[in-house]
Amino acid sequence: MCRNPDQCAAQAQSLANAMQQWAPVGQAELMKWRAAYKAYEGDVVMKHHGYVRCEDREFTPAEIMEAMMNGKVIERFQRRWQRGVVYKTGRPPVEVNLLISYELPIAEGEQAERRNHRQSRSRKRTGSSGRYVHISVVFPPGSMNWTITTVYRPTDKEWRWNNDYTSRQCWC
Ligand SMILES: [Zn+2]
Repeated sequence: MCRNPDQCAAQAQSLANAMQQWAPVGQAELMKWRAAYKAYEGDVVMKHHGYVRCEDREFTPAEIMEAMMNGKVIERFQRRWQRGVVYKTGRPPVEVNLLISYELPIAEGEQAERRNHRQSRSRKRTGSSGRYVHISVVFPPGSMNWTITTVYRPTDKEWRWNNDYTSRQCWC
């Protein structure tokens, strides 16, 4: 749970203000990537770490791609690599980091029913499948070759998010 409500509320407000500007930039990048992907001019790979977390958390590769093609950018950061190689310019390269949020539709079948049942306590809205996924991707600015670094269920730490898991409320 949140241990610093005042601090987190202030930080959430500051992030929301910044993302009013930057999330649409990220969304435009995602739209461009989707077009490139469909034209075989772009691709996405998953780091081993991301793949393992994907396995752990019960998202299939098809569901990850569904989220990539239909999800919404909720956070965008552009920063210098912390441990990036410094080239002759003396400046380290820059990477863009997007956080994509998607709610998987209510699935058919017995296995899906079990999943939904197990997650039913996380449901906050009527008609929701309760199966939310967040995907973190990185890429050099302008590149259509992206890397998924993390896939997780925001419902696992739901106090950190608003009702539809599109806005970060807490860092605790
Ligand atoms: Zn907090």
